[in-house]
Parts: sequence; structure tokens; C-alpha cells
Amino acid sequence: MDWNYQQPVKIIFGNGKISALKEVIAELGETDGILICSRSFRKSGLADKVIVEAEGLLTAVYSDVSPNPEVAEVDACAELMRAKGSKFVVALGGGSVMDLAKAAATIATVDESISLYHGTGKALPETFLPLIAVPTTSGTGSEVTSVAVLSDHETGKKAPIFSPNFFPAYAVVDPELTYTCPPTVTACSGIDVLCQSIEGYWSVNHQPICDALAIHAAKLVFEYLPLAYTNPYDATAREKMAEASVIAGLAFALPKTTSSHAVSYPLTNLYGIPHGEACGLTIDYFAKVNAQLETDGRVAAFAKALGFADAPAMAEAITALKKQIGLRTDLVDLDLSDAQLDELVQLSHHPNLDNNPVKITDDILYDLFGTLTKKN
Ligand code: NAD
Repeated sequence: MDWNYQQPVKIIFGNGKISALKEVIAELGETDGILICSRSFRKSGLADKVIVEAEGLLTAVYSDVSPNPEVAEVDACAELMRAKGSKFVVALGGGSVMDLAKAAATIATVDESISLYHGTGKALPETFLPLIAVPTTSGTGSEVTSVAVLSDHETGKKAPIFSPNFFPAYAVVDPELTYTCPPTVTACSGIDVLCQSIEGYWSVNHQPICDALAIHAAKLVFEYLPLAYTNPYDATAREKMAEASVIAGLAFALPKTTSSHAVSYPLTNLYGIPHGEACGLTIDYFAKVNAQLETDGRVAAFAKALGFADAPAMAEAITALKKQIGLRTDLVDLDLSDAQLDELVQLSHHPNLDNNPVKITDDILYDLFGTLTKKN
């Protein structure tokens, strides 16, 4: 088996590491940076704290960031960066903030809209501003990946853009920043960590380094996500989930995600189900299907590496975990019509589906959505 591994992001991990931001910026050797964060961090005072700690090196702030960030928000942020002459970017937030920042950091260097590159396959310009990613959820792992997932509400399209430009220069991972995540954000982002580990492992692009990372991250999620959900100030649980998140990011960055992520995009776009919850909704189903149809036993091997008897036992444990942390296990409440189910099946044929270890046919997708919508 041939494989390559490359990871260009410098990772700085530990409680209180946000206070090292000034030294990190000094290493970059730039001035006049922009802080990109969610509106809630301007209200909570965290944005001001970071600006003060940067001692004059952050001269602009952009905080108009929606969950599932919009192409129009990327363009607005890039316009502000051009106007302010920003030379580097600090992204303080969850996957939404980091993804918007990645795209804006490239598009700000040219006078274009990100729409030209969103879902079009057109290669991004080669120029970009350096990015320091500071995740506040555990999480998407976006701080170590070269992908930005953006939405275009006009066309109804949510799609990832890949570019080597998008790798942050630094990831400052401070678990204490996640303490303020409400339980629902902890649950949704935490189940995303599990999906990324599992999908990175069973992806057709799997490789040994990412395999080892995926097993490590998934074990941590099973142990610590319920604790972080129940007690947001459990320092060990938050630290271990932050570790799981960044390691799961490394685990899927090269193999890429598969079936659960492919199916999640229409569930988020059409029905507003948060990203992680939408991915988690189908991961137990796909664990069973993949284990049943695969020929190389990798799903069973992953389950055993985590201490489960087999893949169905792992799937049961995932379902139990979702119930424990208040996540959806079905779509019954949406009362979907046949036409809506047809649409979901059609839109689930996202390119990520091709990374799945077994072919996911329409029959399988109808069975999946039939199971999720079945009224008892
Ligand atoms: P998010 O960034 O959308 O944040 C969810 C909510 O939590 C927001 O309202 C945000 O303001 C709030 N929040 C974040 N941190 C907080 C904190 N510390 N305290 C209080 N509130 C906080 O959620 P997410 O799950 O981190 O990111 C989801 C997005 O990331 C989706 O768009 C998804 O498609 C994308 N994603 C990207 C990658 C990648 O590698 N680029 C991977 C997976 C998912």
C-alpha cells in the first residue's frame, strides 16, 4: 500500500494558551491583523480580551458570521480586510468562523467574489494571508484542515472548497475556550468529532497514520463527550475533547469524510439540522451497512480497536451516546412527504459519498431515510 502524509499546521495546545497569541503573531512577523469571530464573543467580552492581549496588532474585527457561513459573508469580510489593509487573520470560533476566515484570507488578496470558486471546481488564486486558527468548539478540526465549508442561500448549495491556501499557519487550541459552549453545541460538535474519526478511518483514502489518529480520537469521544455535555466546566473532559477534536481533524484531513457527511449537507440545508447533529444522525446506520457490505473488515477492526465486540455493537453504542447527549436519532417530527424523501436521496449524492468504502446506492439511501422517518 502506498501513502503520503503531510501536515503543515503548527499546533499549540493547552489551557490558557490564548494568552500566547501575541508571541504567535510575533512569530508570523506581521502587523495589522483582523480578528474574525462570532457576534456572541463581542458581547461576551472575549473578542475585546483577545484584542487587548494582541497589543495593537489586531486593527480590525469582523463578526457577522452565521452558523454554516454564507458566501456573501465571506465577500463582506474580504472587503473589510481590503479596506483595512489587513495582513494576517485570527479566526476565533467554531468551524463556521474558521471556514469563513480561510476563504476570506484568500479572496481578500484579489478583487473577486468567493462565489466564483464555490462548487464550481475553479482553482483558487495562489495568494493568501496567513491565518491563526483558535477553535472554540470541539469540534470540526478545521484548524488543521485545508477545507472550508460554505453555503450559498441563493442557490441552496452547501459545499466544501479545498485549497492548500486554507491550511492555517498556526492552530492555538485552548480547551478553556470551550467551557462556555452550551450543552447542545457541545453535543453537536462532539458527535462531529466521532463522525470525522470513523469516516476518516473507513474512507477509501485511508492510510496508517490517519488510522492511528482516528482510533485515538474516537476512544476519547466515547469516554469524555458525555462528561463535557453534563458538566461544561469539567476541565479534564473539555481538555480531552479538545485533544480529540484536533486529532480527529488530522485523522480526516487527508482521507476526507464519506457517507454521513455527504448526507448531512441536505439535512442542514433543507431542514436546518446543525452540522454535527446531521452527521451523527446517520453514522450508526452507515457503520452497520458498511460492515455488512465491505470485504476488508476495516469497520469491524475499528470497532474492535475501540473495545467493541463488532461493528453492530459499536453502532448500538453510538445510538446510545446520541440519546444520552440529547441528539436526534430520527426524522419522524419533520413528517417528510415522498417528494421530500426523493429530494433528500438525490441531494445526498455529494462527492464525499464516493469516499465511502462501499457503494451507497439509492436503495440504501431510501432504506436509511425510511428507517429515520418510520413512525412507530
Ligand atoms: P459553529 O462554528 O457553527 O458554532 C455553533 C454555535 O456555537 C454558534 O452559534 C457559535 O457562535 C457558538 N459557539 C462557538 N463556540 C462557542 C463557545 N466557546 N461558547 C459559546 N458559544 C460558542 O459550530 P461548529 O460545529 O464548530 O462548526 C460547524 C461548521 O463547520 C459547519 O458549517 C460545518 O460544515 C463546518 N465544518 C468544517 C470542517 C472543516 O474541516 N473545515 C469540518 C467539519 C465541519
